[in-house]
Amino acid sequence: MNYETVIGLEVHVQLQTRSKMFCGCPADYQTAPPNSRVCPVCLGLPGSLPVVNRRAVEYTIMTGLALGCRIPGYSKFDRKNYPYPDLMKGYQISQFDLPLAEDGSLQIEVDGVSKPVGVMRVHLEEDAAKLLHFPEEPGDPHSLVDVNRAGSPLMEIVSEPDMRSPDEARAYLTTLHSIIQYLGVSAGNMQDGNFRCDANVSIRPVGSEEFGTRTEIKNMNSFRSVYQALNHEVERQRRVLEDGGSITQETRGWVEERGVTVSQRSKEHAHDYRYFPEPDLPPLAIDPVWVEEIREKLPELAGQRKWRFIEQYGLPPYDADLLTGSRSMADYFEETVALRSEAAPPLDGYAKNVSNWILGDLSRLMNLEGVAIGDVRVLPKHLSELLELVDSGTLSGTMAKTVLEEAFATGQAPGKIVEEKGYSQISDSSVVDEAVVQALAENPKAVADYLGGKETASKYLVGQVMKITRGQAKPDLALELVVTALEAARGGG
Ligand code: ADP
Ligand code: MG
Ligand code: ZN
Repeated sequence: MNYETVIGLEVHVQLQTRSKMFCGCPADYQTAPPNSRVCPVCLGLPGSLPVVNRRAVEYTIMTGLALGCRIPGYSKFDRKNYPYPDLMKGYQISQFDLPLAEDGSLQIEVDGVSKPVGVMRVHLEEDAAKLLHFPEEPGDPHSLVDVNRAGSPLMEIVSEPDMRSPDEARAYLTTLHSIIQYLGVSAGNMQDGNFRCDANVSIRPVGSEEFGTRTEIKNMNSFRSVYQALNHEVERQRRVLEDGGSITQETRGWVEERGVTVSQRSKEHAHDYRYFPEPDLPPLAIDPVWVEEIREKLPELAGQRKWRFIEQYGLPPYDADLLTGSRSMADYFEETVALRSEAAPPLDGYAKNVSNWILGDLSRLMNLEGVAIGDVRVLPKHLSELLELVDSGTLSGTMAKTVLEEAFATGQAPGKIVEEKGYSQISDSSVVDEAVVQALAENPKAVADYLGGKETASKYLVGQVMKITRGQAKPDLALELVVTALEAARGGG
């Protein structure tokens, strides 16, 4: 039996606002000491009242617009009730039937094929506190609660069950992540939990109209683990069905170390959240004029920027695609190109050269060391300086790679490295060799003299090599290479 995979993703994005969702506490919980960012509201003390963070609403509408959603004129918050030690009030303020944005879509691309994935809704809610467990403490196993995160603004983006493979799910996530980054509404770091994904997956016989029973996978903290967890889960469901069993609707957790998903909570134990309108907050009337203002302020997104890179810089689509995949990478590229001096080659050639360095050697070093572009110590001004050293003939391409590696490791400016280490073409024999070949070709008389026994003719040829390299060839290296070439000519003749 052939099965088709069906995937729908729920993504939680922590919004980067100054204060929390419903109180004035700073939202910098990640760097603050435990329980230092708390007040009666986010502690859930009786009698305290929430106030909506306008910036969080704006960020959610902004994201909705970027995803092509409709922004209804009326929205409200609801209480989602469930008891959990990290949930201070015993309920979470979320949105149920009237989210801030709905009915959008996201264009994804897999193996050159593009397709839209429906976005059901984008809504706003608050994050929970954080539990720290100490089960191994001798004689005193215990847990502690850090309330700093409680009440931080959290945006949830729910997709339609439109994806048909783990590859499509991965493409959806990376595209969505790029949009979030471009909008600047979140730090968007998966490891830090700023960007979290729950994956719903089911399989059905090919040709079947009805969806199969789904499971929901949680606890994945990288794109790679989402991809692996989905592949594993699809395979597990197929085996269950092929053995004549049936899929139970349940929540499963991904166990990274073992590469498996395990059952966490079945449907029978699913929560009845008893949603009801949040009585402490008035409904939100969203002014269409405000929505249009937000729409006008939307930054250029990856897709648009890609086409601009192709037009403005004459880049091949492949380069433009890779560079604009991350906003910081695209910014890095544009900053470097903008620093180009008057003497540099025409924009097209120069931009492609910058792209080659970023996508080639720089990316290789980044991957090798696991460094993100934002943390690279070679700044755009350094890369631009390096390219000028190559253009002016001070450095050969080979030497430039070495200098880049040192700059990458030390953060030193390329000019400084060249100066201190005495790097330049002089110590690059392949470059001096080129000059030697030219000098010999242009001076047949001197060559003939040398071969006829007049050894001093080699000195003249070394002088010519120095002239060609504008005095930068190391004299003893030049002499060595000239003699080698002359002796080779003797052997050959
Ligand atoms: P719930 O409210 O229980 O979380 P939703 O209907 O909101 O359920 O769907 C949650 C997510 O599950 C959505 O992203 C949706 O696309 C996805 N989904 C729903 N049904 C299926 C299915 N049969 N297979 C895979 N994904 C599904
Ligand atoms: Mg759900
Ligand atoms: Zn607070």
